[in-house]
Amino acid sequence: MAGINQNYKKLAAGYLFPEIARRTKEFQKKYPDRELKRLGIGNTTEALTPAIVEGLIKGVNNLADPSTYSGYGDEQGNTTLRRVLSEYYNSKGITLSPDDFFISDGAKPDSSNIQSIFSPDSVIAIQDPAYPVYVDSNVISGRTGEYSSIIGEYDGLIYMPCTEENNFFPDIPDKKVDLIYLCSPNNPTGAVATHKQLAGFVKYARENKSVIIFDAAYSEYISDLSLPKSIFEIEGAKECALEINSLSKFAGFTGVRLGWTVVPEELIVEGTKPGEVRDMWNRRQCTFFNGASNIVQEGALAVFSEEGLKESGNLVNYYMENAKIIMKGVTSIGITAYGGVNAPYVWIKTPGGISSWDFFDKLLSETGVIGTPGSGFGPGGEGYFRLSAFGHREDIEAAVNSIKKDLKI
Ligand SMILES: *Cc1c(COP(=O)(O)O)cnc(C)c1O
Repeated sequence: MAGINQNYKKLAAGYLFPEIARRTKEFQKKYPDRELKRLGIGNTTEALTPAIVEGLIKGVNNLADPSTYSGYGDEQGNTTLRRVLSEYYNSKGITLSPDDFFISDGAKPDSSNIQSIFSPDSVIAIQDPAYPVYVDSNVISGRTGEYSSIIGEYDGLIYMPCTEENNFFPDIPDKKVDLIYLCSPNNPTGAVATHKQLAGFVKYARENKSVIIFDAAYSEYISDLSLPKSIFEIEGAKECALEINSLSKFAGFTGVRLGWTVVPEELIVEGTKPGEVRDMWNRRQCTFFNGASNIVQEGALAVFSEEGLKESGNLVNYYMENAKIIMKGVTSIGITAYGGVNAPYVWIKTPGGISSWDFFDKLLSETGVIGTPGSGFGPGGEGYFRLSAFGHREDIEAAVNSIKKDLKI
C-alpha cells in the first residue's frame, strides 16, 4: 500500500501567505471602498529592460531556425553562460572555474534541493528569522522532529537568533552543526554580513568540517563597497562553502526563471576528496533536472553584457530608491527600522512592542497597507514586520503617505 511522506505533515509553514490573504479578504469585504497598498511580497514589478528582452528574443529566434535550433542542453547549463558567470566572479577578484557553476531554474529550487547531497543525519543551523525554504526542505527530508507551536520551533533544528543586539547577524554556534544556511543581504531583515562576520563562520566551518550554504540572491543590492557580495570573498571559504544566486531580484527574472549554484572543486566534507562534493551536485542535477531553458539562458547572457549590467544596475537602483522612501517615511514618524540600505527590505520594529500579527491588523485597518508579519519567518521575527521595496514608485509613495498620515503610534 502506498503511503505519503509523513514529514510533510510536520510542516507548520504555508500558514503565512494564506493567512495574509485571508485577513486581507476579510478587510476588503468589510470596507469595499478602501484602497489596498501592498508592500508585502518580495516580487519584482518593473519590466524587463531592453538589452535583456533582446537576448530573450534571440533565444526564441534561435529555436525558430533549423540551423540554430537546439533541444536538450547540458544539465549543468550553457557552456558560454558558465564561463561568463565565472568571469563575472573573476572580475570581482574571486577565482572560480566555469566547472564550479551549475545553471538552474532559480535559487529557491537550488536552496531546497541542495540538502539532498548531504547526509540525512546532518545537524542543520539556520538564521532566525529566515527565508522559510531552508527550514521546510529539511523538514520534508526528515532532518527535524515535530514543530512546537508554543515555541514556534522544530525539534532538532539549531536556530541562530538574529536580533537587534547582534545587528541581525547570528553569533557562531556554540555546538557542532553540519550545515549552516546564511543569507546576506538577508530576507527578511535586510541585514548584510560584514567580512569579519563571515570570516568567523568560515573559521568555524573549517574547524568543525561544516558546510555553509550561502544564499546571495540579493548580492547586487549591496552598494556599500566594504561589504562582501559573495562568501568566496572570504579566505578559505572555497573549502567549506557553496553559494546560490539568481537573476530574479537582480534582473527581474522572478517569472523568467534562472539561477545558479557555485560548488567549488575545493569544497570538502567528512571523507571526501576535492571535487567529490561538486560531482555529487552534478549527479543530482543530471538525475533530477534537465537543464535551464535555452531561451532564458540567452536572456541571462544578455544580463551580463555591458548594456545588460548597466540596465540591471538601474533596475536595482529603482527599487533601492523605493527602499529609501520607505525608510525615510517610517522613521519620520518615530518607528525604528533596519535594513533598507543594501537590501530591498525594511525591517521595522512594531511600535509599542505589539505582536507582528497585531501590527499587521493595525496597519491594514488604519492605512490600508499590507506588509508581512516578521513572525512568519521564524520565532525570532516576532515583534517585527517586513516592508518590501518591490513596487511601482507611485504605489510605494501612496503607501508611505498613508502610513505617515494615518498610522496611530
Ligand atoms: C527571492 C529569493 C530567492 C530567489 O529565488 P528564485 O527561485 O531564484 O526566484 C532566493 N533566496 C531568497 C532569500 C529570496 O528572497
